[in-house]
Amino acid sequence: MASDVVDKLRAGVRDVPDFPKKGIVFKDITPILSDPVLFRASIDLFLERCRGKKIDKIVGIDARGFLFGSTVAYELGVGFVPIRKRGKLPYKTEVAKYSLEYGEAEMEMHIDAMMAGEQIVLVDDLLATGGTSAAAAALIRKVGGHLLEAQFLIELQFLNGRRELEPTPVVSFLKY
Ligand code: AMP
Repeated sequence: MASDVVDKLRAGVRDVPDFPKKGIVFKDITPILSDPVLFRASIDLFLERCRGKKIDKIVGIDARGFLFGSTVAYELGVGFVPIRKRGKLPYKTEVAKYSLEYGEAEMEMHIDAMMAGEQIVLVDDLLATGGTSAAAAALIRKVGGHLLEAQFLIELQFLNGRRELEPTPVVSFLKY
């Protein structure tokens, strides 16, 4: 991974203090999305990491995981599965509870989103406490998918969220 690419992407992450509540520094990735060079560079980091792996599906987490995950799936030529906040998916779902850096919530995935034994890569914009992605991992396990790896554009290392995903390998590109 070229360090100048990482530096440019890092410069594209905007810190927004006290959002969505006091004490949280929100890592806003919209400047990366709106810049075609940075957006491509971010997707290329995920793609580089996926190269050589046998992947059946990419799972993306509501909502920014959809932006990165579906683009990566499109480029790899594999399926995409959304994990959504409770109440948004129309068909039968599995549900997992989780706690956030800023609150509590539930995630859902369609029960037929993947077949048992399928090789899955989980994609999201940011790993904080790991609660969200651990819930996503639990949903993938419930329907019999095999989670190969969890990939994040950004990792807030001081929150040690990767511990929640053990023993799944965790990869992140911009570390804070
Ligand atoms: P967590 O469950 O604590 O790992 O939180 C990860 C999820 O919440 C991801 O889907 C992120 O998009 C979002 N999130 C948590 N903390 C932040 C933050 N400081 N900045 C931006 N997004 C965040």
